[in-house]
Amino acid sequence: MRHIHVRERHYSPTAGELANRKRGQAVPGRIARRSDQISPIERESADVIVDCHIHLYGERDRVREQTDDLLRYGDRLGIEKFIVCLGPQLIHRPDAERIEADTEYVLAAMEHAPGRIEGLVYGSGNHVDKSLELMERYIANGPMRGVKLWVCRRCSDPELDPIAEYAAELDVPILQHSYWRCGEPLQGETEPHDMVALARRHPRTRFLMAHCGGNWEKGIRAVAHQPNVSVDVCGGDPEAGQTEYGVEYLGADRVLYGSDASGRSLASQLAKVIGAEISDADRRRVLGDNAVAMFGL
Ligand SMILES: [Zn+2]
Repeated sequence: MRHIHVRERHYSPTAGELANRKRGQAVPGRIARRSDQISPIERESADVIVDCHIHLYGERDRVREQTDDLLRYGDRLGIEKFIVCLGPQLIHRPDAERIEADTEYVLAAMEHAPGRIEGLVYGSGNHVDKSLELMERYIANGPMRGVKLWVCRRCSDPELDPIAEYAAELDVPILQHSYWRCGEPLQGETEPHDMVALARRHPRTRFLMAHCGGNWEKGIRAVAHQPNVSVDVCGGDPEAGQTEYGVEYLGADRVLYGSDASGRSLASQLAKVIGAEISDADRRRVLGDNAVAMFGL
């Protein structure tokens, strides 16, 4: 068990909060308590931290070194488990051989650090047969914990139905990249309404919508009524309020901490949850308990 150490830090109010102060409204105090103000009971009950959204970028044959680096940084922050997906380079439309090789790259990380690294099969709506084959080989018969779908094809496309059905049969979740951008989406990129369409067709399947849908205020609201969709808070800038917004609209059981490292730093993304104005019980759910339950860790 690792413990969450909340350190004293200096806090600068945002422009909006300063405006609220001028108007005499209550300002949520985001200054965390010092670690010596946390009772021993709270320390003992602080639970495991799981980062549900990790990529190991770099050279394919250096996966062990990349894993060691990740664990070293994770140890500084008390992150116990990492759920890794995709390959050493991001390719928008990988061929079937590539999703197999990338899945095996993640498997190599799992084998290098058993108990610390968990992995997801790289699924693709462009290569459904290969995806199902990998799910059988590495989830039904192997150690992997779920499926990652990225940007090759919008997930609302019925082509993806066999992947969603098989995930339900295997009782593992699907982590689906999802992004509402200011500009045009990438070709084939899933947006939150696509996530809802797939989840509605597959009520037995559990989905984890990455990045809270990019534009997290819209994304969280878009999936709020769809109970088999949870969200991770990873990626994007470390803005205040994202975790609170998710907990308010979805409930604390449907919000998971993730970082999107190596694309983002562990610490900046962890701060979204450590600094959130939520109860300690809800924080434990978001930091780890929900991931333990969702991925069967
Ligand atoms: Zn990612």
